[in-house]
Amino acid sequence: MGLKRTIKVVITGGAGYIGSHVAKVLVRSGHEVIVIDNLSTSQSTNLRYGEFWPLDLAEEDRLYEFLKEREPQVVMHFAAFIVVPESVDHPLKYYYNNVGNTLRLLSAMQKANIKNFVFSSSAAVYGIPEVVPVDEEAPFNPISPYGESKAMVEKILRDMSKAGEIRYVSLRYFNVAGADPEGEIGPAYNQPTHLILRALKTAKGEYPFLEIFGTDYPTPDGTCVRDYIHVMDLAAAHLLAMDYLISGGDSQVFNCGYGRGYSVREVVAVAKVVTGVDFEVKETSRRPGDPPILIAKTDKIRTLLGFRPEFDDLSLIIKHTWEWERRLGKGGKP
Ligand code: UDP
Repeated sequence: MGLKRTIKVVITGGAGYIGSHVAKVLVRSGHEVIVIDNLSTSQSTNLRYGEFWPLDLAEEDRLYEFLKEREPQVVMHFAAFIVVPESVDHPLKYYYNNVGNTLRLLSAMQKANIKNFVFSSSAAVYGIPEVVPVDEEAPFNPISPYGESKAMVEKILRDMSKAGEIRYVSLRYFNVAGADPEGEIGPAYNQPTHLILRALKTAKGEYPFLEIFGTDYPTPDGTCVRDYIHVMDLAAAHLLAMDYLISGGDSQVFNCGYGRGYSVREVVAVAKVVTGVDFEVKETSRRPGDPPILIAKTDKIRTLLGFRPEFDDLSLIIKHTWEWERRLGKGGKP
């Protein structure tokens, strides 16, 4: 590590689940954070760290003026639509926002001469990987417009980087879960689809039962296996990625996970222990598009960025999410 200095960072989508945790970690590390967000899918309650500018990425001219005036050293780009089944039903909506608006952002950055970029990518770019744990060299094989939109942006970044127009780190998130252990911010979706949130809301009594989607997968207990990463460790990975770029590192892609998997049944069992509620579970049919096993190979991020997770513990991930859920109240907002 070189000398500690303050970096000015713009975070798009900084009011969202992951962006808001990253904003907190960056501010706590002494950096200057400016959040831009159109609040289309997030709530202003998560806007606790950094300065806030309501800005829509579709407005490229305003974006350029803003970037030219503020001159951030790094842009971190979280703003995107993220619901996989919705992307299947409304592909244009996803390509327009996730690809089109990213192009506008990159173009505004280019005009403002800002060259460091951290991109929120996803394990969805791999689709159903042939080899697990999957490493960063595995081919793009997305099976949804959401995953395709992330792969498209990665390809654009690769070409821009080759041409010397940008340096970037693309972080491919596996299953992000958990909440700020201090309880200030957390996931605040109206209709969550993610397993841990669904399980905890069932424990709270918001849903009558939890469905397990598919018990006939080729996995040890027949349910899907995922690599769950605590959102605070993911946020720390962003800080490492930024330091890496600022120190002159070349463009890179990293998996973000812990390198181990838990089945749906295992997650449910831990959720019951953490909450102390024996909520009802129903085994139903497979959800379309779910890969049986998704586990990250994590050697690269550990070696090249020195990533050392602090919260690699499923009980802790679920406990922090549960504390946040209880703070939200029943069906309520923070
Ligand atoms: N899942 C489930 N019941 C639910 C929500 C999810 O059985 O109510 C399963 C889902 O089919 C997948 C795993 O839990 O196998 C993780 O799903 P999630 O939506 O949390 O994340 P994804 O891996 O799809 O990004």
